[in-house]
Amino acid sequence: MRLVMLGLPAAGKGTQGRLLSERYGIPHVSTGSMFRDAMRAQTDLGRRTRAFIETGELVPDGLAVEIVEERLKKDDCRRGFLLDGFPRTVEQAESLEVTLAKMNISLDAAVNIQISEAEAIRRIANRRVCAQCSSTTQVTPGGAEVCDECGGPLVQRPDDNEETARNRLLVYLAQTQPVVDFYRKRGLLVPVNGLQPVEKVFAQIIQRLSRLDLPKRANGNGRATGITGVMS
Ligand SMILES: [Zn+2]
Repeated sequence: MRLVMLGLPAAGKGTQGRLLSERYGIPHVSTGSMFRDAMRAQTDLGRRTRAFIETGELVPDGLAVEIVEERLKKDDCRRGFLLDGFPRTVEQAESLEVTLAKMNISLDAAVNIQISEAEAIRRIANRRVCAQCSSTTQVTPGGAEVCDECGGPLVQRPDDNEETARNRLLVYLAQTQPVVDFYRKRGLLVPVNGLQPVEKVFAQIIQRLSRLDLPKRANGNGRATGITGVMS
């Protein structure tokens, strides 16, 4: 299974990406995490991307394409992959198509998790990350700022403040919304309602993906392995 995740910031791409990655046994390639890890480790890549991430701007196409291309060539992507945070522009989507064609493969679907802009702003403002285990969660005003998973302290990511959130939405609408149309034209778009609880969104994605007429795979069963249909 080769997937791209689309949706406004905080639509749930990361959460659904992790669940799908487990379900299909494919790596969850999150460019956001790759950039954040690089900034934390102060690598060359981190230095080159910091200014863009901190202001909510997009990392330049060439740099993003270079990083993703390198990642997709690793062995663990051979059975498939899930891209989260890329492509962010039509230019990146076109580059990805060229890269995959060179590798003799193509995407199976672009999952578009749909939420409203107001909901995106609300979720970003309430989003916290555990400083200890890195899991993300939503806090309610006045609620405990402690991780449910490990009890570690919750912190707000520097790019999750409201000003940056609004900027990210504007950037998304201008640059990434056309990517949705790009995949719709290619018949790859799989829209889902992102306003439902996490497990319902996941069930809907799995159901829609199971109906795709995927090209015949090496194992000859005509379906990617690991799909068992709708979750009960
Ligand atoms: Zn934690």
